Amino acid sequence: MAIVLISASQDIAQWRESFAALLSGVELRHWPDIGVADEIDMAIAWKAPEGALKSLPNLRLICSLGQGTDHLFRFDDLPPGVPITRLVDDSMRRQMTAYVIAAVTRRLCRMADYAAYQAKGEWHPLAAYDPAAAVVGVLGLGALGRDAAEKLAGLGFEVRGWSRNPAFIPGVECFNGKRSLAEMLGPCDMVCCLLALTSETLGILDARAFAAIKPGAYLINSARGGHVVEADLLAALDSGHLDGATLDVFEAEPLAADSPLWDHPKVELTPHISAVTMVQSCAGQIAENYRRMTAGQPLLHVVDPDREY
Ligand code: NAP
Repeated sequence: MAIVLISASQDIAQWRESFAALLSGVELRHWPDIGVADEIDMAIAWKAPEGALKSLPNLRLICSLGQGTDHLFRFDDLPPGVPITRLVDDSMRRQMTAYVIAAVTRRLCRMADYAAYQAKGEWHPLAAYDPAAAVVGVLGLGALGRDAAEKLAGLGFEVRGWSRNPAFIPGVECFNGKRSLAEMLGPCDMVCCLLALTSETLGILDARAFAAIKPGAYLINSARGGHVVEADLLAALDSGHLDGATLDVFEAEPLAADSPLWDHPKVELTPHISAVTMVQSCAGQIAENYRRMTAGQPLLHVVDPDREY
């Protein structure tokens, strides 16, 4: 049997090298050069073209080549009954927590303001800050959000977290469910989105959510662009209700050349790099799931298609 990698952005040579050491005798093919489709029993997918997964008649496992799984539910074209797994990766967790802490501390230490003063050659000390006086809200307390919330609490910030199901994290005030969202957001000085993107969370950071956050707050979105209604974000920034944003993900990627976000004075942005899939870190768990699939054993990091994450 064979595995197919469906991703335009990955280096197939690197994956083949890793899999040769992990799964001897299993061929790794690269979409669209799949050879005999009947031979493929596992697909490793990132933004697969519409209908691609359904075209593989003997598929027994779909592995999301990322921690997020929203890309798999874009077209409503998944082959019925085929289990889906995703990555849960230590490297991505470390990368994401570092990104979030960088954005939060950069804001608190007024680094952007000091860069502007430096450019003007001005020695201009601003008011001192204490992390304990800043409230940081983390939306999503899963594999990534929980770690970021814990580490921010460890730095002394007052941290509030929000998830679908109840969560208990030492040092973090946890809320859950749609009805508690406005209450959770209310006192936040900074809000970081690390939610799964599903039908329920699409556009969750809209004008209504921004209005619930106290004036002068700061937004960090490193989950998915679909969580934020960009027009509402721009309106909240331009009205002065929100004081700034760090954005790693966007409604459409790459960000359009004419997007007003590019040169907005209150926006710092990065090109979807806050937690990158690294072959050497992720190949092991994918190979392990292949082995489990063939042995009929329980899979790691299974996705529930009904809740879309
Ligand atoms: P995860 O483990 O699946 O956690 C998702 C979190 O979202 C969970 O806490 C879940 O609540 C919460 N959630 C889902 N639906 C909700 C709802 N309707 N109401 C409230 N909370 C809800 O995901 P992850 O691995 O931490 O990833 C988090 C996000 O980061 C994803 O969007 C992923 O795509 C994104 N990501 C971005 C990058 C990047 O480079 N920018 C890299 C990797 C991942 P429960 O805990 O109650 O289930």
